[in-house]
Amino acid sequence: MSDQIRFNLSEKDIPKFWYNINADSPIPPAPVLHPATKEPVTPDFLSVLFPMELILQEISTEAYIEIPEPVREVYKLWRPTPLIRARNLEKALGTPAHIYFKNEGFSPSGSHKLNTAAAQAFYNKQAGTKALTTETGAGQWGTALAMAGQFFDLDIEVYMVRVSFDQKPYRRFLMETYGAQVYASPTDRTQTGKETLRKDPKNPGSLGLAISEAVEVAATSNGKKKYSLGSVLNHVLTHQSVIGEEALKQMDLAGEYPDIVIGCVGGGSNFAGIAFPFLRENLRNGQRTRLIAVEPTATPSLTRGRYAFDYGDTAQMAPIVKMHTLGHDFIPPAIHAGGLRYHGMAPTLCALYDAGYIEATAVRQIPIFDAAVLFARTEGILPAPESAHAIRVAIDEALKAKENGEKKVILFNLSGHGHFDLSAYNAYNTGILEDYEYPEEAIASIEQRLPQVPEFVGK
Ligand SMILES: *Cc1c(COP(=O)(O)O)cnc(C)c1O
Repeated sequence: MSDQIRFNLSEKDIPKFWYNINADSPIPPAPVLHPATKEPVTPDFLSVLFPMELILQEISTEAYIEIPEPVREVYKLWRPTPLIRARNLEKALGTPAHIYFKNEGFSPSGSHKLNTAAAQAFYNKQAGTKALTTETGAGQWGTALAMAGQFFDLDIEVYMVRVSFDQKPYRRFLMETYGAQVYASPTDRTQTGKETLRKDPKNPGSLGLAISEAVEVAATSNGKKKYSLGSVLNHVLTHQSVIGEEALKQMDLAGEYPDIVIGCVGGGSNFAGIAFPFLRENLRNGQRTRLIAVEPTATPSLTRGRYAFDYGDTAQMAPIVKMHTLGHDFIPPAIHAGGLRYHGMAPTLCALYDAGYIEATAVRQIPIFDAAVLFARTEGILPAPESAHAIRVAIDEALKAKENGEKKVILFNLSGHGHFDLSAYNAYNTGILEDYEYPEEAIASIEQRLPQVPEFVGK
């Protein structure tokens, strides 16, 4: 046991391979269905949206996928990211637990999302794509893709949820500074957007709707534009495995092994990124690390959603996948400030959660900000509200360890910094933030709002 605080790796320790959980997952993946025919999709359907290399990664059962050299070159700008022991936080809690965090907020775009943005931009460039379309909520994904577009010389078109576009202009300015075009969704650039605006000119937008617009633009571009998704899909989860692979080495430098690994979940990618390499060690090498996914009580897809086939987007253009879902027509409550607003969750992660390999818990937003502020005041880093979900549960586990007099080793992923979330912090500081539980009526009606799928697919 060392008394070090930072566990640094060097450039040569940047992983050479991504790890794909589907090689070790004991659960076969459910089929992905065409949104209109509801038959299993073909690579042809997917190839309208994605380059073939990414489709192959999506369905791959190979454990290790080599990271292309140009992507590793880009990774060198910020990877390996720091692993830090939160000693000041431990002291403030008076806990015998050791708390470590992996700082993905260290990336130039401010979150883990650049790990997959760089990879997706590379494979698209290689396949001759000219432009990428995408959606963004708070703007972290759009920022990462805008930056990756510059690295690999692609135009980037971002459909940004209107409330965020209006209320969080700084992320938009940042994306534009990195050279992306940013539109407030719903727009009048797509059929979906036009129809939505005709029914409701003041529609605030949602992530599901913005996905529909970005997909429509790519699907109707005659192959010039492809679509890029920042979470949920298996290839995205695979790209994020660099987080956990580095963390394994860094915990080794620290001379410890985590009892608990924690990450927040929106679509599931940063959690999978840190947790799946540790899950591999559980499955292959008899480790027994608890893996905890943390979501907001305002968007409780894992803890209260139905595990069923549902559309990936609001307009029913994206494939139907089996996941924990609140329904594709879900619109998140406006008072929810903490991000993580997607109605569904990565199917790979859902299958593992359903089978008991992963735990999940939901937390309320005032306790989340309590944790965020304590972390900022002890460790000096202002966390993204999303990341603060993980901090909340890390603190709760450390307090449990204190109660039980146990020396637990806790590792969480700090998925991003909160420098663009200061109005949410201000809402907390001035006492106008409220807790919110997703209402029971809305949960009860999910079943009726799901698509009917053919018998043979199973439920
Ligand atoms: C996008 C984002 C998330 C949620 O997405 P996941 O795919 O679940 O990781 C969490 N934290 C930050 C900082 C993000 O930008």
